[in-house]
Amino acid sequence: MKELQERIQKDGICINEDILKVDSFINHQVDPVLMEQIGQEFAEHFKDQGITKVATIESSGIAPALMTAHSMGLPLIILKKQPSKVLNDHLFQTEVTSFTKGTSYELTLSSKFISEKDHVLIIDDFLANGEAATGAIRLIRKAHATVAGVGILIEKSFQPGHDKLVAQGFDVYSLARIGHMEAGKIEFIE
Ligand code: 5GP
Repeated sequence: MKELQERIQKDGICINEDILKVDSFINHQVDPVLMEQIGQEFAEHFKDQGITKVATIESSGIAPALMTAHSMGLPLIILKKQPSKVLNDHLFQTEVTSFTKGTSYELTLSSKFISEKDHVLIIDDFLANGEAATGAIRLIRKAHATVAGVGILIEKSFQPGHDKLVAQGFDVYSLARIGHMEAGKIEFIE
């Protein structure tokens, strides 16, 4: 997506060869116009697939996922991060390792908001090793719902997440795919 790639070139800050900071337009300060365009792009790509809900992982996926849900006329479910296991019959939980923090958390979802009838689109800001997306998929499957696909704003294609998800047969639609980055230089691939 041209608008997102241009914005990454203009305002993205490469911390090192692995981590890109996008906190002036996605993660901390949010550009609503760009989020709306992103939502429309995902809605167009994933239309007519019988999707019933959009899901994201708190917190940086919420803005683009909300705009996607709005464009598709669907509810948004936010998968919550808990520091440790919560014993509760009405919660689905799965452990995920965080790429940026190097720690683990429990991803949780209330059974009130998902059922075996749901066909869910997952949206997240970054795809790196694929741990967050794989955790979200595990959680949705624990509820016996199905996954329609994964929409990603920024895929770091030099990390293994994309290939892992595609190898499992998922439709992964990434709006910006970074092939290589270093301070002052970000290269996209198609
Ligand atoms: P994965 O689970 O695919 O390894 O990492 C995805 C998650 O880690 C995303 O939800 C995102 O929050 C975070 N993440 C991964 N790489 C980056 C990065 O380069 N910059 C930022 N800001 N977050 C990242």
